[in-house]
Amino acid sequence: MRIQVDLHVHTLASGHAFSTVVEIAREANLRRLRAVGIADHGPGLPGGPHPYHFSAMRFLPRAMEGVRILRGVEANLMDAKGTIDLPRELAERLDYVMVGFHHGCGFNPGSARSNTRAFIKAMDNPRVKVLTHPGNPAFPVDVPELVAAAAARGVALEINNASFSQNRAGSYANCTRIAAELARVGGPVCLSSDAHVATQVGEVKDAWAVAEAAGVIEAQVVNRTYTECLKFLGLDEAEMAGK
Ligand SMILES: [Zn+2]
Ligand SMILES: [Zn+2]
Repeated sequence: MRIQVDLHVHTLASGHAFSTVVEIAREANLRRLRAVGIADHGPGLPGGPHPYHFSAMRFLPRAMEGVRILRGVEANLMDAKGTIDLPRELAERLDYVMVGFHHGCGFNPGSARSNTRAFIKAMDNPRVKVLTHPGNPAFPVDVPELVAAAAARGVALEINNASFSQNRAGSYANCTRIAAELARVGGPVCLSSDAHVATQVGEVKDAWAVAEAAGVIEAQVVNRTYTECLKFLGLDEAEMAGK
């Protein structure tokens, strides 16, 4: 299983990551990705980029080092109403929005019920295409309810490669449950590196191992091919090539 697009990569702009867009694009090219999604944390995360970062993403060339550059964000859920930390007008200028729970952004982990509600409310925003690391044990969710709601809205749930080695200890069991439920209902799945340094770009081996063992099939993976990924994000391939 190879992916052509990694939608979840952090640059120096996140405040706690270590590579530039050029370094990331170069690594993506070496790993034979066709596109890489720059998805820095939203402004609500301590040390995160200023909102101007997201309006300035229009300055990024559409191709660098032989790969396409997609403009995204990993926005933070700020409250139980599903509010994210990027104003709508800025979110609308990006190619896609990912949303996840992170500590220190104003949202204190609640019950599985309230966390699930917040995720579902966030999906009311049509720019939201992926929920990041929903298997994080620090923010438990109601798995069947969340998977059903995401599938109904065409939003992908992420299986995050970094969750199995570097981050969010205890994710394995939750991710396995989420993947099994995604397999059962046939919902969209995003495999991501969540790279915070260029050498990790495109690395999804552990995430795919978990997803595949739980019964997810390749056709469910929204970022497997460039063409299918753009279609999933609602982007026009010809327009992307020209912009
Ligand atoms: Zn995250
Ligand atoms: Zn991330």
